[in-house]
Amino acid sequence: MICPNCGLENGKRNVCKKCGTFLQNKQTQRVTDPKELRKMKRAKRRAIAKGCGSSFLLMIVAFIVISVILFVILYFVTKNMKWPTEEELAAEMSQFQSVMDAEEEERRKEEEGASVTITEEP
Ligand SMILES: [Zn+2]
Repeated sequence: MICPNCGLENGKRNVCKKCGTFLQNKQTQRVTDPKELRKMKRAKRRAIAKGCGSSFLLMIVAFIVISVILFVILYFVTKNMKWPTEEELAAEMSQFQSVMDAEEEERRKEEEGASVTITEEP
C-alpha cells in the first residue's frame, strides 16, 4: 500500500513506516465511493465463489469419476456373468421342489416308523 502522505510503499502495513500515517483509514475513506465499493464487493464475491466453486467442482468431478468407474466395473462383471434364462430358472425351481418333496416324504416315513415302534414297544 502506498502512503498518500509521503508516497512510500508499505506493503501490507496499516501505518506508514516513514511518516506514521494511518493507511487503513485512508483506504476505508476511499472505499466509501460507491463505485469502488461495488467493485470490491464483486471481487470479494468472485473470490468466495471461486473458492467454493472449485471445491464444489472437484466434488462433482470426483462423484462423476467414481460413478463411471463403478459403472464400468458393473458393466464388465454383468457382461461376463451368464444370466439364467426363465426356463433354466423354472427347471431349477422344479428340481428344488422335487428334492424338497422327497425330503418331506422321507421325514414323514421316518416319523411314521418311529411312532409305530414307540407304540409297539410298551
Ligand atoms: Zn508515509
